[in-house]
Amino acid sequence: KLSKRLQQIADYVTAGSRAADIGSDHALLPVYLLQSGKCPSAIAGELNTGPFQAAKRQTAVAGLSQAIDVRQGDGLAVLAPGEADTVTIAGMGGALMAEILETGRKAGKLEGVKELVLQPNVGEEIVRKWLTAHGYVLQNESILEEDGRIYEVLHALHGSANQDGKSIEQVYDAGFLAANLDNETKHEWLYRMGPYLLRRGEELLHNKWQHEHGKLARISKQMEKSDLSESRDKQAQLKAEMDTIQEVL
Ligand code: SAM
Repeated sequence: KLSKRLQQIADYVTAGSRAADIGSDHALLPVYLLQSGKCPSAIAGELNTGPFQAAKRQTAVAGLSQAIDVRQGDGLAVLAPGEADTVTIAGMGGALMAEILETGRKAGKLEGVKELVLQPNVGEEIVRKWLTAHGYVLQNESILEEDGRIYEVLHALHGSANQDGKSIEQVYDAGFLAANLDNETKHEWLYRMGPYLLRRGEELLHNKWQHEHGKLARISKQMEKSDLSESRDKQAQLKAEMDTIQEVL
């Protein structure tokens, strides 16, 4: 049985698509996609030797060595253009994820990729911005809690696969965010929090940013104690960020 987090990722994958899971570690997701009959074939990409071997082992144990091609390499470099319909990337930071996507895009590896399912651990806004800038339309988002951690999963389709998809601004009007923020700040928070999650008023989204606020408050307290002059700017920055979170919540 998959974890709740991986199950949500699997649920977003369109049935019948040829999937590529990048940074696959034990290849749990591709194995599930094959076993459940959702995907006819899959590629598991891994940069590091340990996880690469773990993926090889898991697919062999599942009797899926033929259907799942395990490849070692950096990001989307393991793909030939046109080989995958869906790319999934999960369990890494948003900045690294956007870098993998951008490097791959420049090398033509995303040609023919209609669907992206992404689960950044942090820096979700970087991923939402990358998607928007490169013709991918956010279709839906999920937020879930597992083992005391909160995860977000983003589902995007390429514009060519969904011509009447809505832009992030159409899904949720940033104007609804706290009235006294300037437009640029509202826009930033729309990308940080996610338009579908905001629209649904997800309780976990509220919890997540409440928690973030608590973290910043603790850092700020620490700084107050140390009272170093060079931390004053940083402290003012923290305060401003905390105020904005309160406003938005
Ligand atoms: N995707 C799985 C999941 O969500 O459960 C595994 C997540 S694991 C925390 C991140 C994996 O990404 C590691 O196995 C790591 O080796 C791999 N990784 C990191 N950078 C990578 C890159 N540039 N290309 C491919 N894999 C990478």
